[in-house]
Amino acid sequence: MGRGEKGDVKLRGDHDHDTVAIELGHDEKLVGSVGGEGGGGRERRRVSYVNSLSPRQMDALTALCDTFLPSIAPPRHPLDAASGSDSDGNEDVAKFYETSASMAGTPEKLGGIISERMKHPKLWLLRLTLWFLSTCIGTLILCGRKCLSSHFPYVQCFSEIPQQRREEIVRRWSRSVFPVLQMFTRTVKLLTFLVFFTQVDEKDRNEFWKAIGYAGPDPEFENSKKSKHMSRQISADEQQDQEQATAKNVYEDEAVFGPLHRGLIHMVHPLDIVSKNLGQFGFPVLLCPSNHNVRKRSFPSLSIQCDAVVIGSGAGGGVVAGVLAKAGYKVLVLEKGSYSARSNLSLLEGPTMDQMYLSSGLVATDDMSTLVLAGSTVGGGSTINWSASIRTPQHVMNEWSNEYDLELFDSKLYQEALDVVCKRMGVQSAISEEGFNNAVLRKGCHELGYPVSNIPRNSPPDHYCGWCCMGCKDGKKQGTAETWLVDLVESGNGAILPGCEAIKVLHTRQSGRERDTATGVAFEFKHNGVKEVCIIESKVTIVACGALGTPVLLKRSGLENPNIGKNLHLHPVAMAWGYFPDTETADLWPEKEKKSYEGGIMTAMSTVVGDFDRSGYGAVIQTPALHPGMFSILMPWTSSLDMKERMTKFSRTAHLFALARDKGSGTATSSTSISYKMDDIDEQNLQKGLEKVLRILAAAGAEEIGTHHKGGKTLNVKQASYHEFERFVKEESARPIKGLSTPICSAHQMGSCRMGPNPRSSAVNPMGETWEMEGLYVADTSVFPTALGVNPMVTVQAIAYCTAQSVLEALKRKKSRH
Ligand SMILES: Cc1cc2nc3c(=O)[nH]c(=O)nc-3n(C[C@H](O)[C@H](O)[C@H](O)COP(=O)(O)OP(=O)(O)OC[C@H]3O[C@@H](n4cnc5c(N)ncnc54)[C@H](O)[C@@H]3O)c2cc1C
Repeated sequence: MGRGEKGDVKLRGDHDHDTVAIELGHDEKLVGSVGGEGGGGRERRRVSYVNSLSPRQMDALTALCDTFLPSIAPPRHPLDAASGSDSDGNEDVAKFYETSASMAGTPEKLGGIISERMKHPKLWLLRLTLWFLSTCIGTLILCGRKCLSSHFPYVQCFSEIPQQRREEIVRRWSRSVFPVLQMFTRTVKLLTFLVFFTQVDEKDRNEFWKAIGYAGPDPEFENSKKSKHMSRQISADEQQDQEQATAKNVYEDEAVFGPLHRGLIHMVHPLDIVSKNLGQFGFPVLLCPSNHNVRKRSFPSLSIQCDAVVIGSGAGGGVVAGVLAKAGYKVLVLEKGSYSARSNLSLLEGPTMDQMYLSSGLVATDDMSTLVLAGSTVGGGSTINWSASIRTPQHVMNEWSNEYDLELFDSKLYQEALDVVCKRMGVQSAISEEGFNNAVLRKGCHELGYPVSNIPRNSPPDHYCGWCCMGCKDGKKQGTAETWLVDLVESGNGAILPGCEAIKVLHTRQSGRERDTATGVAFEFKHNGVKEVCIIESKVTIVACGALGTPVLLKRSGLENPNIGKNLHLHPVAMAWGYFPDTETADLWPEKEKKSYEGGIMTAMSTVVGDFDRSGYGAVIQTPALHPGMFSILMPWTSSLDMKERMTKFSRTAHLFALARDKGSGTATSSTSISYKMDDIDEQNLQKGLEKVLRILAAAGAEEIGTHHKGGKTLNVKQASYHEFERFVKEESARPIKGLSTPICSAHQMGSCRMGPNPRSSAVNPMGETWEMEGLYVADTSVFPTALGVNPMVTVQAIAYCTAQSVLEALKRKKSRH
């Protein structure tokens, strides 16, 4: 049956707008060449977002963007302000100062993002506030007398107020007693800078990167792309040939298409081709739908049969899929994100966030206090994460086995699981050369006598790459897509379906049973912009959608256990920075060529306030990957001039962070609606961490230091007396972190379907099976009983490995019954 025939029901029309479409530099999507979209080709088409803001709202938005980023006169000697600039740098820096957000086209792009891309539950407030600011009365209410003028009609709307006064207004809003105003200011500032520094032209360049000393995508990767065959543009004919070759499973160019290409099935093909491909993999396919409890409007077009379906291809899901397929079971993996082959990575911040991060990287808690990052691509978080591969700490295993009655964590199986997953990921602790941030952390700790250790990584010692947060260009980082999913593909027993989002777990009550049994999953995907639905019938169903996605899917499937969605921990992170000028001196350190965004992202860490000897409820100190977009949204804005100056120091500004093992928790209602309440003790631990971080930065030789607190106070360490330094460190680290005072980040989400010994306190049993539904397992960070306190990849993989053993037992039992 081809598309458009009976049974091919259209769910929702795509974007049929007749308003003006905006070309967004960082909204390009890749057109795939292997099996369809995202498959591995290099041709890019630009996707346009439609701006539905009214012209008056756009006026207000433009004025706001220009308030944060106006055109200003460059400093008299721009090179003085620029770091890493050569003699041409003068002009670049001058241009950067002179260009406002509106001159760079930022507000239009932002309008499109607000209209179509952002999914935050308070988005309506943003639109409403823009509307208020587009009127004189609304501006009077929000800005007070600062909008009064001596000319008729005496009240100005926001866009008419002079720049200096607008700056005073937004400064006041950021400190307002009304959280709504604080949220509004933070959101517009964040989006303005994100767009400004991530937008690229047709040559994939941003004209301001040179001024701030940023190289753009990894130059090594760019060069190798140019010199190798993989840089050639693939013609339409060639693309067609390759797709056919892939369908026949004979196309072997791993270097171009990555190690998974033979195991990917793209649902963008006509259904008869899809079912033929699935048949070749050994999955029986029925074109007529069976009578399942899926939504009526979404009449399924295909029904595929397998032993196990794994929903989510991330750190947890990948392990289960690999283990089951290697054991001989037929496994299908559903992944709502797309697949990016190594050669197909852009290593550009904007496009990467768009294509490989959950909700384009624009996820924040409902109150906007915490920015939440999670991967959404084949390999999930493990594809874009920072490589830290730390075993579950002993104090955590003790706590989970003793206080949470989970013997698993005191078992041989769990120890074996840790060994197996570390081996599979090639975890090792050596470092050939340390990058800028980590060298600063290590040196500062050594100077102060703080403990500092090497972070084990799933990459080799010479992996000196600061771009892994955008995917690993050479596959050296052993994420799930380079390991467990490769096992799945090489076993010949499994396939991965990218771009397919599970919408409901299917279930039925079998006679004589007290609870329902999972029978598979309904999923949707887009074909030619239209959503279609298929179902998978399976003997076991494993949900591994991450701690934000799993509770949503379980609830949508009718599970009612009250622990589902609750107890969400975020490992809140607060940062401080230190500026290390690169002006030539005999003892210049870090060396002139070292840049803040290069080198292994995480190679050193300190547990000086980790409390690892006792409960572990403290904070660890590590380093982030901050490319210009993320750097600029976190840096406090105190004035437009200060921010421009700050950005010119980007490439020599080191960042360190404190990450709390949080007692506080929240709720995941949907993947874009997250509430979270920071506990007092977590705030105190972060403050203790920040105090140490400021000291470490200064001890390592930073000239200037500061935190991300909205007050934006800084200290010139070289000019400060001992007392001034001590006062600064104490005052700045004691500032509030909760609420909207300091932007908090989270790259680790866990606990929202926690494991436990009974259904009252947990959502899944110690085997990883949901209490409510037989044959339905959870294998991701949502099963963590508490926050972990260190980077979670090894722990989630080890738990998933144990869960895979339980699933194998269940499959064996089912086999022996038939
Ligand atoms: C920027 C960043 C850096 C990090 N650095 C480190 C690090 O250095 N070390 C470390 O240990 N940890 C790190 N982490 C965290 C780590 O990557 C995650 O904790 C881990 O990947 C979580 O595994 P998971 O299986 O729970 O979910 P994920 O790996 O997030 O996988 C979930 C997958 O499910 C998919 N999905 C969701 N819903 C559906 C649906 N309905 N249908 C189909 N598919 C769906 C998602 O698209 C996603 O790909 C980092 C995370 C980020 C974001």
